[in-house]
Amino acid sequence: MNTQDFVKNAIKTESRNFDEIGGRMSEVRNQRLLHAGIGLATEAGEFLDALKKHVFYGKELDTVNLSEEMGDIFWYCALIADELGVDFSKVMDTNIAKLKARYGEKFTEEKAENRDLTTERTILEK
Ligand SMILES: [Mg+2]
Repeated sequence: MNTQDFVKNAIKTESRNFDEIGGRMSEVRNQRLLHAGIGLATEAGEFLDALKKHVFYGKELDTVNLSEEMGDIFWYCALIADELGVDFSKVMDTNIAKLKARYGEKFTEEKAENRDLTTERTILEK
């Protein structure tokens, strides 16, 4: 396939209802959540870049920088928590409860592949 055919076929599946997309983007909630989502992705990229420089380029592992990026990620998580009106400690408790339902006390590949999504959803909705 040449690049022109690829582009032609790829854009067939693009969501192009820009009036509705624009309407959703005009909602402050979505603006804040998108800001947080983009921020999480970029900060994760910065974290990975620091790790890449250590693993692949042989630079000293900059744990101060990794910790900084972790803080930046928390900053965006705080934005999400505020917008969703959720408490960090409850989110952490729920996460652990979900993982206990999934794995019990120990990770296994079998349990990772055979999740009970109904039970997990019930835990997440409490
Ligand atoms: Mg950063």
